[in-house]
Amino acid sequence: MTKSIDVSTDVARLRKDMVECRRDLHAHPEMAFKEERTAGIVAKRLKSLGIAARTGVAKTGVVGLIKGALPGPVVALRADMDALPIIERDKKPYRSGTPGVMHACGHDGHVAILLAVAEVLEKRKKNIRGSVKLIFQPAEESPGGAEPMIKEGALKNPDVDAIFGLHMWNDFPVGRVGVKPGPLLAAADKFEVTITAKGGHGAAPHQTADPILAAVHAIQALQALSSRMVDPLQPVVCSVGRIKGGDAFNVIPNRVEFAGTIRSFDPKLRPRLPKMVRDLIGGAVHGLGAEFEMTYTMYYPATINDVEMTKVVDGVAEGLVGKTRVDRNVQTLGGEDMSYFLNEVPGSFFFLGCRNEKKGLCAPHHSDRFDFDEEALPLGAEMLLRTVESYLARAK
Ligand SMILES: [Zn+2]
Ligand SMILES: [Zn+2]
Repeated sequence: MTKSIDVSTDVARLRKDMVECRRDLHAHPEMAFKEERTAGIVAKRLKSLGIAARTGVAKTGVVGLIKGALPGPVVALRADMDALPIIERDKKPYRSGTPGVMHACGHDGHVAILLAVAEVLEKRKKNIRGSVKLIFQPAEESPGGAEPMIKEGALKNPDVDAIFGLHMWNDFPVGRVGVKPGPLLAAADKFEVTITAKGGHGAAPHQTADPILAAVHAIQALQALSSRMVDPLQPVVCSVGRIKGGDAFNVIPNRVEFAGTIRSFDPKLRPRLPKMVRDLIGGAVHGLGAEFEMTYTMYYPATINDVEMTKVVDGVAEGLVGKTRVDRNVQTLGGEDMSYFLNEVPGSFFFLGCRNEKKGLCAPHHSDRFDFDEEALPLGAEMLLRTVESYLARAK
């Protein structure tokens, strides 16, 4: 299927290398801020290519710099390196050798792609007008490595003018690329609620203030967030994923806890959401004579692509995979801390199709059978290379 997509000889030559690197990382997954082996491999490879690199940025992050022969802007490319706390179910030869840790999101592929891109760019640097910063980031899955990397100067010295990155995307078959200006991924926030009330005998509910009933009302009331409180043309998701309360079938407890996630795209809407959530829960809970406490934690902001920078990626994608294989409707309420970089400098994050039904590679991201079609690796490398070259040529 990807036969008709031609990558450059430089990338084709590194195809086997990318597969080997990715499989090695897959077999040795590391959790957030513990990506020591991975960072070691990255640093060693950059050094062997003659690329100057700073290590230990936000604990395990690595920042490399390729200086082109000619002066020009600084463009950054970002790859995340961390794995997830998942037990891998597959029996493939390169399955995780670390119990309970798995590369189930494709970050192993992101690292392999960026290392190949580094090698090709270093080779082509005579013709590069500007510099390319290579950002290998820890802890994307949580608690987030982008923000501390920025605080430790990853975008400074030299100052970055634009940033690009990709994510393996299993919703798309290999060969398809998702490009979208504006909001691509959501802000992902968390709320945790504890309802307290007077418990008692299940046969005498009138002597109690039932926190279970209050929790039911509160959770139902939260459905009004998207249906009645927020403009219906503005996506917002509220999902309760945990609820705990009571021990016995015939006892009304005095405490119920629940927690959920709120996802949104609009940076202007987001700061208004905690009050809306609080008001909805309060209305439901207080009416039944119960009390509540809530903590609302803001995690990653929405990932918002710059319109001009996305045009660069769009042009490259169309040139590489063809018009019909560029998907411009892609958007997800998942979260990504690439958002922090994009809030600092203009840039664009895009999705790289990696699904292949025929090869049985269709388990979703974060599943214990996730894997991707390795044909996506050379395509990802070619996409990033051409994006850098197209951006720098444009900035001339
Ligand atoms: Zn993930
Ligand atoms: Zn991911």
